[in-house]
Amino acid sequence: MFWADKIAQDIKEKNLPLAWVDDMKTPSGRIHVGSLFGVVFHDLVYKALKDQGVNAKYTYVFENHDPMDDIPSYLPREKFEKYLGMPLFKVPSPVEGYKDFAEYYALEFKETFNKIGSNPEIIWTKDLYTSGKMNPGIKKVLDNAEEIRKIYQEMYKKEIASDWYPFQVYCEKCGKVSTTRVYNWDGEKVHYRCVVDATDWTKGCGSEGATSPFSDESGMKGKMPWKVEWAVKWQAIGVTIEGAGKDHMSRGGSHDLATLVCERVLKYPVPYPIRYEFMLIGGKKMSSSKGQGFAASDMLDILPAELVRFLIVKKDINQQTNFDPAEKNTIPTLFDEYQKAADAYCNKTDEDLARIFEFSQVDGIKKLPAVRFSVLAQWVQMPNMQDEIKKQGLEEWAKYARVYIEKYAPDSEKFVVQKSLPDVAKNLSEKQKEFLKTIASELDKAFNAEDFQTQIYESGKALGLSGKETFAAIYLSLIGKDHGPKAAWLILSLDKEFVKKRFEEISNVILGSKATPESHNESDSGQARMTDFQQARTISPEIFSLSKEVTEKFPSISVGVAVIKGVNIEKTNPDLEKEKQEVLESLHGLTTEALGQYQEIIAYRKLYKEMGVDWHSRRPSPEALLRRVALHKGLYTVNTCVDAYNLVVMKHRVSMGAFDLDKTVFPTEVRFAKDDEEILLLGDTEPTKYKPTELGYFDGNGGFSLDINYRDAQRTAAQLETRNLFINVDGFYDITPEMVEKSLQEACDLIIKYCGGTVEVFGVKK
Ligand SMILES: [Zn+2]
Repeated sequence: MFWADKIAQDIKEKNLPLAWVDDMKTPSGRIHVGSLFGVVFHDLVYKALKDQGVNAKYTYVFENHDPMDDIPSYLPREKFEKYLGMPLFKVPSPVEGYKDFAEYYALEFKETFNKIGSNPEIIWTKDLYTSGKMNPGIKKVLDNAEEIRKIYQEMYKKEIASDWYPFQVYCEKCGKVSTTRVYNWDGEKVHYRCVVDATDWTKGCGSEGATSPFSDESGMKGKMPWKVEWAVKWQAIGVTIEGAGKDHMSRGGSHDLATLVCERVLKYPVPYPIRYEFMLIGGKKMSSSKGQGFAASDMLDILPAELVRFLIVKKDINQQTNFDPAEKNTIPTLFDEYQKAADAYCNKTDEDLARIFEFSQVDGIKKLPAVRFSVLAQWVQMPNMQDEIKKQGLEEWAKYARVYIEKYAPDSEKFVVQKSLPDVAKNLSEKQKEFLKTIASELDKAFNAEDFQTQIYESGKALGLSGKETFAAIYLSLIGKDHGPKAAWLILSLDKEFVKKRFEEISNVILGSKATPESHNESDSGQARMTDFQQARTISPEIFSLSKEVTEKFPSISVGVAVIKGVNIEKTNPDLEKEKQEVLESLHGLTTEALGQYQEIIAYRKLYKEMGVDWHSRRPSPEALLRRVALHKGLYTVNTCVDAYNLVVMKHRVSMGAFDLDKTVFPTEVRFAKDDEEILLLGDTEPTKYKPTELGYFDGNGGFSLDINYRDAQRTAAQLETRNLFINVDGFYDITPEMVEKSLQEACDLIIKYCGGTVEVFGVKK
């Protein structure tokens, strides 16, 4: 049974003449989304009670009589500083058109909870006091000040002064409440001082006086400390059900104190408590006191009202949970769950989930979109889908899909139809181009999207293309990425003539001859090949450059740079293992002496000598790899990316590295290290210091390789979760730019063969 129904059942057995549910909040600034949880949880109990035929009422108390004890960071301090210590209803509203500060923020919050379907009756504490309803409680509390001191002493295990009274007067002279101290109660009047140094955030006026503590229509005289007041309020209103978040409800917390006041002083039955855990928003505890945070009203900017309500209703009240809209899939998953709950409701499959759906409704049960939110998030990025969205009645959700794409979606879910042919599409294989030509000629036939999707797949297959190659051809030519929304829907959302022209344009692009004679041909690579470069392209300094000092000292240096996007790196691959075995066999008989004869190995040793590094203790990476082979230690298995390019390193003895593009802060460069620069190497726990004579690859966060190719940094390592790669290959002395380019080309080919992806940048800097 849903938790609120269980509580309602429990309460029903008490046979109360009226079940009065209440919750409260001090409107001291923008009210944080966290406070919505209390409103809705109490609302659920109230509605569950009504469903069981219990006479119930739900009120919400805005504590506008509390003092302003802090100025929210988004308000001008100089304007509000003089009001610190005064009750919020005496502080002016930050925005014109509202009675006071408290009203402005309270109404903003009320509007939000009304929008998500909670409509408690509002009570303002100032009215509660001036109506005289609190006065009997105030009298009891003052008459029993000694008992209340005892309760405080018991709970907090500290001595309470015998002239302390549970009441604070609104100073008759300066109007502040936080600064006054009552030191006597004579049965008619409380005697007080407004203490100059009572707090460290506002000053008292130093005056003394005696006044009746009983508020009436003429105004408020003072208030009780809130934990005592909480209990007095229960009795004054007649509350029978009220809970709070865990921080107030834990042992020794404010609820325990209010309970003792109820039992020992007021003789009023403690309301039925609803105890709940918090939800963190983006990993932060919900609190409105510090900074602007995530206000309740902000929630409605990112989710429809019923989804905000659903997020709260479905929460396990006994578990702390987290909602991070910026985390991948958080928002699409919430919509999916909502649709699942709707199914449970319609098909009567899961009773609790059905009840959650029912309780999440704001005004009646609306017909739900049949399309998943993630699909809708693609539709809103496609041109010409407005009609379809309208036809299916998806405008409301589409609005939020646009917000999601703009604010929270990862780049992999975003796309833009390119106005001109994307550069990456120029490298499609001949078969892919032929395929696009076929599709262009089919466009005039009228298809529905489902059939067209099948047709696309079949056309690719007929030409010997894999599904991946087939769809990549479409995506690369339309949106410049190798993945995207369902291809048929994408194409049909576009102007037919535009697509036709684009596909024909691609099939007319003529590629140059293959750059390297021994590069794999199409049939054995089995992947979309993007590396048919006629010649290396120039690399923009925004991506990579060589420092002047480096080119002056090492005029022979050349660095090949490539970016491959959309890779899928795996732990191992059986075909790759086979290829590694073959390379091992081809190196059979290699000795450490023979190794030192290779011109490339000699080149790197010379570089190390120039950098002041002993190559006996730090081996350049090609040498280190081949030494393992010579010493029969076998090959490392790191992952399919690193293993693939290591094959090229062993073959050509030219060093290279592949890094996580998304963890690299561009621009990058090869330069000498600066004083005190350090690098945390892969596999190490302590950073290593560079010497100023040592070279490395550097990005916006510092070095990501030590001695060019000795070892790489942890932070940029290409790992299983890496999606985009930044690759570099470096040559010195006898290692020519042509050798560098050839090695880079082969590395790209092999990485794409085993990890997929598309080359987006390729070139050699010298
Ligand atoms: Zn004063």
